[in-house]
Amino acid sequence: VTSFWCEHAVIDRSVRARVRIETADGEIVAVVPDTAAMPTDRKLAGLVLPGLANAHSHAFHRALRGRTHSDGGTFWTWRDLMYRVADRLTPDSYFDLARATFAEMVLAGYTVVGEFHYLHAGSGAMEDAVLSAAAEAGIRITLLDTLYLDGGLDPDGSTVGLSASQRRFSDLSVENWQARRSAVSMGPLARGGAAVHSIRAVDPRLLSNLVELVAGDPLHAHLSEQSAENTAALAAWGVTPTRLFADAGLLGENFTAVHGTHLSDDDIELLGQTGSTVCFCPTTERDLGDGIGPASALAAAGARLALGSDQHAVIDPFEELRGLEMHERLAAEARGRFDPAELLEHASANGYSALGWNGGTIRVGALADLVAVDTGSVRTAGAALDQLWFAATAADVTTVVIAGEIVVDDRRHAFGDVGELLAEAIAKVGT
Ligand SMILES: [Zn+2]
Repeated sequence: VTSFWCEHAVIDRSVRARVRIETADGEIVAVVPDTAAMPTDRKLAGLVLPGLANAHSHAFHRALRGRTHSDGGTFWTWRDLMYRVADRLTPDSYFDLARATFAEMVLAGYTVVGEFHYLHAGSGAMEDAVLSAAAEAGIRITLLDTLYLDGGLDPDGSTVGLSASQRRFSDLSVENWQARRSAVSMGPLARGGAAVHSIRAVDPRLLSNLVELVAGDPLHAHLSEQSAENTAALAAWGVTPTRLFADAGLLGENFTAVHGTHLSDDDIELLGQTGSTVCFCPTTERDLGDGIGPASALAAAGARLALGSDQHAVIDPFEELRGLEMHERLAAEARGRFDPAELLEHASANGYSALGWNGGTIRVGALADLVAVDTGSVRTAGAALDQLWFAATAADVTTVVIAGEIVVDDRRHAFGDVGELLAEAIAKVGT
């Protein structure tokens, strides 16, 4: 048994003082507020939050940060560089880049990542690389192994063939994808999941037996990130991308739509009624100029909301959480779209469930994943504890516990200088 004593911790939506948390075999087995520490307890100062979930990541996009803005940059300057990086990555250089990126995530307070993985090499070497990288960095992972078959959709709805770069992403058939995906073996902090890249990359008519193939695993898909996708879907099939996924039977509690930026009222209703999750990626959506999705309308319709850092222009769970609220405030010209406790659940428990784990909450039976945040830094000093996440940044994370083990201690990861690791890994990709 490993036990922790927290100066303060968030339990059932409220901040409690002097909380003992006992763990065994990676799970929480006791939670006792208002109690003294035992001599063997590991003391956690500040405010302890449940583990924070990064429900949408493409680890290799980290190599693009701060390099796509020349002459202002367009979506296409971003995508060209992303394809160049993808072309160059080998299992070895992908491992180094993913390992450093996952370490950056853990330092920032992310305890689980949903890796939306579309960079295959046929052999399983890229899947092994990304899983080994996560295991070494100490982060929990759901490998959302991605089906990618076509190059895109023209505005008139016609299918575009795979480009040379995109061949790298494709298994060429649903059968090949399923065979490769089923052969991947998972370590103790890893589990399988599936993804459909988008209705641009997979003909929705091929999706009708997907739910059976996926057999209860989390299933994610990019959905209506940009309005061009809706235009092309309407031209090709006469309905929205959400309606295509709904008709293929994919929506439901195991389904997560990523972005959901441009949704009709009917789309919102479909996602809500089915209890689907919608994963917002605010720092990416603003970087790429995608727009602001209807977060509070989705929540009101019954959808769960989760958060992801997607292309990693920023890796900071607090920035994503605030982005969700702040973008809505700008769009709605009103404050208080979500209450602080609700926002924290989007960043924690909802992301865990979207990734197929019972965590992101401090209660008996949940995974023993915890994040301690400094309450006295220049950013957080004076902030009320029940809304500290409106003031904190990734730099305020002091200790991170994953499966009952300390992975970040006193703001340091076991790897040492993660900035240096990132610089080396990005230099090796050399674009
Ligand atoms: Zn994405």
